[in-house]
Amino acid sequence: MAYLITDECIDCNACEIECPNNAIYPAGESWELHGEEHPAVSDEHTYIAYDKCTECIGFYDEPQCVAVCPSEAVIKDPERVETEEELLAKKEKIGTVLK
Ligand code: SF4
Repeated sequence: MAYLITDECIDCNACEIECPNNAIYPAGESWELHGEEHPAVSDEHTYIAYDKCTECIGFYDEPQCVAVCPSEAVIKDPERVETEEELLAKKEKIGTVLK
């Protein structure tokens, strides 16, 4: 299951730098994966590109964006349920490695 950022977001961008998959983008900015650009998911507030969110599986024990959000604006996306295996496969596909 990917996470999503709700309207409670205050655009502090604390989560953006914490995401191991670089899945978090400022409002209105297009997101990219493997050199392909995609339209912004939100023009209103910081957002998560769900195709790049792995719930931090394989990197951390808990979602980093949830942990740092001061306004509890990050929730599980009920429309994007994924198993741990699917999330690990997604991580492989993204190919991010922690520096
Ligand atoms: Fe990034 Fe982890 Fe938050 Fe997903 S749960 S957006 S991978 S920090």
